Amino acid sequence: MTLSFDPDTVPLPVGHFIGDRLVPAEGVIDMHRPSDGKAYAGCPLADEALVDRAVETAKKALKESNWGGVRPRERTIALQRWADLIEKEAETLAKLEALSSTRPVGHLVAGDIAVSAEQIRFFAEFADKEGSDLVPTDDSNLGMIMTEPYGVVGAITPWNFPVSMAAWKLGPALAAGNAVVLKPSEMTPFSTVYLAELAIRAGLPAGLINIVLGDGPVTGNAITGHPDIAKVSFTGSTGAGSAIMANIARTGIKPMTLELGGKSPQLVFTDADLGKAAAAIAQSMLSNAGQACVAGSRLIVEESVAAPLADAIVARMKAAKAGPTWDEATQYSPIISKRQLNRIHGIVEAAAAAGGECLCGGAPMDAPGYFYQPTLIAVRDGSSPAITEEIFGPVLSMQTFTNEEEALLLAEHPTYGLAAGLFTRDLSRALRLTRQLQAGTVWVNRYGRSRDHILPTGGYKRSGIGKDLGREAYDANRKSKSVLISL
Ligand code: NAD
Repeated sequence: MTLSFDPDTVPLPVGHFIGDRLVPAEGVIDMHRPSDGKAYAGCPLADEALVDRAVETAKKALKESNWGGVRPRERTIALQRWADLIEKEAETLAKLEALSSTRPVGHLVAGDIAVSAEQIRFFAEFADKEGSDLVPTDDSNLGMIMTEPYGVVGAITPWNFPVSMAAWKLGPALAAGNAVVLKPSEMTPFSTVYLAELAIRAGLPAGLINIVLGDGPVTGNAITGHPDIAKVSFTGSTGAGSAIMANIARTGIKPMTLELGGKSPQLVFTDADLGKAAAAIAQSMLSNAGQACVAGSRLIVEESVAAPLADAIVARMKAAKAGPTWDEATQYSPIISKRQLNRIHGIVEAAAAAGGECLCGGAPMDAPGYFYQPTLIAVRDGSSPAITEEIFGPVLSMQTFTNEEEALLLAEHPTYGLAAGLFTRDLSRALRLTRQLQAGTVWVNRYGRSRDHILPTGGYKRSGIGKDLGREAYDANRKSKSVLISL
């Protein structure tokens, strides 16, 4: 059996998903396939009235199904059935995802999609494991803290891992008893629409998941500013997160979770296992061509081992096998759009003009679609855009240090604090630096997650507010009520 497919034969669910069905709509935002640049569809644009209809549908569903008030195990079981169906239909989901996104189909079925089903099950299990907390009072009172779902949660997701990002939002919100109105990225909406269809087929009450398609300024704004959306959960760029905060402040106060951008450092000391470090660092740039929020895009290495480490990384970068996302053999992804490809190249050119030395790559690939060569660039000037900007592409900058203090200074980014990597065999140093690094996640002698859904993910500084995954993501979807009863 092969997962490879012909991209021209995949039927697309072009429309919003409201209640229990697809609401077909005209595609008005041009969509191009990153793998070959071909215009292949349009993304519909939900206006305020349509977002309002989705919110009303969600409110009605909550009332009629009593989703937030049923025996919690019923939510667990319903979500588990949905996760089972996601796994069963992984190939269809993978085709929809691979067609418009940068994820190779071979990475999706056993990778992103299987992990997303697992994460939905992980959150489903929280539903019936929560109790009200009794609090100490005097003899004549009983005090307790009970929690409740918010009602309708608004969710907005980015284009880079569409199914995973939708699962991170939908899993905890639904397990916690809410309904959701979700807007996927206008560049990669169709796999998310199909997720909602699978939820209906799995028997989830109609109207708990509503998917509205559109852009940020029109559809996104209508969601974040909607008076009946009680909480917003967003993943995307720091700029959009800032606009969302402003809109929420303007239209009403509500809690929000913001998972934003990053520019994560990877620190390598002389005593590290260099082979292991090179593999992890190269992989973090090659995976989705560096288009990941946690991409470890700043290599900070002790001077004495910089040359051999760079050689080992370059060897891995040169071996990357690019290809269309619909070919099962493809390992290395295209860039999401022509515009982003040009932006990446502009940053690399500016870094080179400012004295940066390209050790590998440094140009778009000579291939159809939007591919960029994996790039390693040695940079001396700390104000180079290769160091300061989130590039969101396969570009790794390299800086060197001679002592720990200098390494920490270089690691510190004024804006971002999403993740950091640390490679050393010295346990004391690893723990000391883990404490000092200003990042929401620190990986030691590895880089990236590993099905460890219990570990929350989120950023320090302007990389975000709140967490996805972990117990924290479930808790963030319930509000607490303090109760004091006179006995
Ligand atoms: P983006 O900010 O351009 O768009 C993300 C989503 O927000 C899209 O659905 C978009 O339509 C919507 N949007 C844009 N402006 C909006 C507004 N004013 N109001 C409401 N919605 C709006 O980001 P992108 O290019 O899709 O994704 C890449 C970015 O996402 C990177 O910065 C990356 O670091 C970040 N990201 C963060 C995480 C994390 O967990 N921290 C995970 C994945 C991606």
